[in-house]
Amino acid sequence: MSKNTPKAIRGTQDIFGADAEAFAYVVETFERVRKLYRFRRVEMPVFEKTEVFSRAIGETTDVVSKEMYSFEDRGGDSLTLRPEFTAGIARAFLTNGWQQHAPLKAATHGPLFRYERPQKGRYRQFHQIDAEIIGAAEPQADVELLAMADQLLKELGIEGVTLHLNTLGDADSRDQWRAALIDYFKKVEGGLSEDSQERLEKNPLRILDSKDRRDQQFLADAPKIDDFLTDEATAFFEAVTSGLDAAGVKWKRAESLVRGLDYYRHTAFEFIPDEGSAAAEALGAQSTVLGGGRYDGLMESLGGAPTPAVGWAAGIERLAMLVGQRAEQPLLDVIVAVENDEAIGSALKSVSAMRHAGLSVDLIASGSPKKRFDKASKVNARALLSIDIRDGETQANVRSADATGLTSQIDALLKNLL
Ligand code: ATP
Ligand code: MG
Repeated sequence: MSKNTPKAIRGTQDIFGADAEAFAYVVETFERVRKLYRFRRVEMPVFEKTEVFSRAIGETTDVVSKEMYSFEDRGGDSLTLRPEFTAGIARAFLTNGWQQHAPLKAATHGPLFRYERPQKGRYRQFHQIDAEIIGAAEPQADVELLAMADQLLKELGIEGVTLHLNTLGDADSRDQWRAALIDYFKKVEGGLSEDSQERLEKNPLRILDSKDRRDQQFLADAPKIDDFLTDEATAFFEAVTSGLDAAGVKWKRAESLVRGLDYYRHTAFEFIPDEGSAAAEALGAQSTVLGGGRYDGLMESLGGAPTPAVGWAAGIERLAMLVGQRAEQPLLDVIVAVENDEAIGSALKSVSAMRHAGLSVDLIASGSPKKRFDKASKVNARALLSIDIRDGETQANVRSADATGLTSQIDALLKNLL
């Protein structure tokens, strides 16, 4: 690399090899599972007007106040590279009249952008899979969405990750809890971190989410949501937990779990690796793989009618770190050695026929013709097909130690072809 070759932007990744296969495996598995639950695919713009995020997510959140990539475009509009999917999907729901499809089960995946300190499992451009149910007020929607997340992790072969579940109550419960938290933290204000002192009045729930030790010492005795839940909120949470039990989804109550974003109501959850598990080891400090909850108040913040909704997002990179080798490409079916340049036409015909029959095929047709067969025999494949021309006749020979009938399948495919 010469000195004047531009470097990649800090916090971005060029994903290649086994990592790229693991990434694709996560996305493919998500695509399969979301169809089992009848989620419809949506494709969203990578940027939106800045206000879409500042209004939906909330000015006092870390995402909006510190992490957004915002810029003025050539027309003078303030735009932002999406830091999450939900706000943009909510905007689209309103601007496109998707109410007609409610309850709308939507799924998508793609890149997100947050100005964070890059480290293992934390990037400035990262990727998420995302699932939302919009226009559904009943707890069964939460259950279905969580069952899908749980099945996805199982199908990815990820073990040792548990659903941590909380309720933030309805607007009434949440307001009372909020006031009690302000009272409680005010008494110990001087001992809190600077960040928490600052968010005490504006966003005291976020103190519960703090990773700072100065804050954590006060968390055990902080007021608990359960003391403020209205009867309705209690009934809602019970319907969610009994639904999860019926669906066979394991969960654990996490009383101080709050989500970083302002718009959450009722159900809030994260899938977190169990302490000491291989998954916890693999992820290090960045441990949450999937998070979400119910956001009944979000549509109103964008000027829409009240619309109940629930959703989750998971980091593809973090999931990919947990699937590991499982995602390697399967063994190659056929390696083809073209031993004579004049046989290239026949070789291409054969390769095309085999690929159309669903076999994976690679071709060795460059370098010294005499060495191609040796090269091909060193490739790990289920079968080796050599193609040569002798006395003007095209010769095709299959060698395979595979006992599944692959040799006769290839012979049959090539029979009337060459
Ligand atoms: P964290 O507490 O790790 O910052 P968060 O609450 O900001 O997470 P969400 O906004 O809920 O995360 O995003 C859902 C998921 O997206 C996370 O659980 C994680 O897997 C992934 N994620 C979030 N931020 C990043 C990032 N900067 N790099 C890689 N993955 C990320
Ligand atoms: Mg974050």
